[in-house]
Amino acid sequence: MVHKVRPSDVRKVGYCPTMYFFDRYLALKAPLTIRLKALWGRFLHTIHALIRLGWVNERLIKVPVERLGITIVGKPDSFRVIEKERKVIIEEFKSHKAPRGSSPLVFHGAWLSDALQLMTYALMFKASTNYEPELIVRYIDKAVKIPYDEVLLLRYIELLKNISEGVFPEPTWVTPNKCRRCPYKEICPYSPYRKIELRGFNIENSE
Ligand code: SF4
Repeated sequence: MVHKVRPSDVRKVGYCPTMYFFDRYLALKAPLTIRLKALWGRFLHTIHALIRLGWVNERLIKVPVERLGITIVGKPDSFRVIEKERKVIIEEFKSHKAPRGSSPLVFHGAWLSDALQLMTYALMFKASTNYEPELIVRYIDKAVKIPYDEVLLLRYIELLKNISEGVFPEPTWVTPNKCRRCPYKEICPYSPYRKIELRGFNIENSE
């Protein structure tokens, strides 16, 4: 079976695998504040694409990676091939700020979820061209250049494949602040705000 992998889904798994499971199988409507934020983000993305003249913006690309049994399908925000240097610069624009300090959710100065999304695009280019990818996450306050870490990326792609086969995952990292904003906080067995017991789960509430 060939799994379809979307870089935006790898990003969601990087943020919280459990939330991705709920999104995939329950798909509750996000709260209004989150939907408004998404609209604002969309608007900023359009501006970003307009100022990235000379770059390829939001082109849909589909690349099979046979050795992994996956096909990656996605639209990088912007990319630019530098023929002379045999490299491709891939840039993801984010309408939020870069992290400050370090935590398990931070990867070389970028949010881990954003870094994983960008690395999935890099894998896409590596599998289909011989250009070396250079990866940049452009936050509203600064641009962060990140390295490509295939071992880390493949761990999350494997997790994504397992979830798409119905495995209910543990969150990789839980913080009360993250769970407070989650639309599944009242049903998630790992949430400190859990109110409803889902059948089949037997996980102690941490509160
Ligand atoms: S409540 Fe927390 S652990 Fe559960 S899905 Fe949401 S963010 Fe993840």
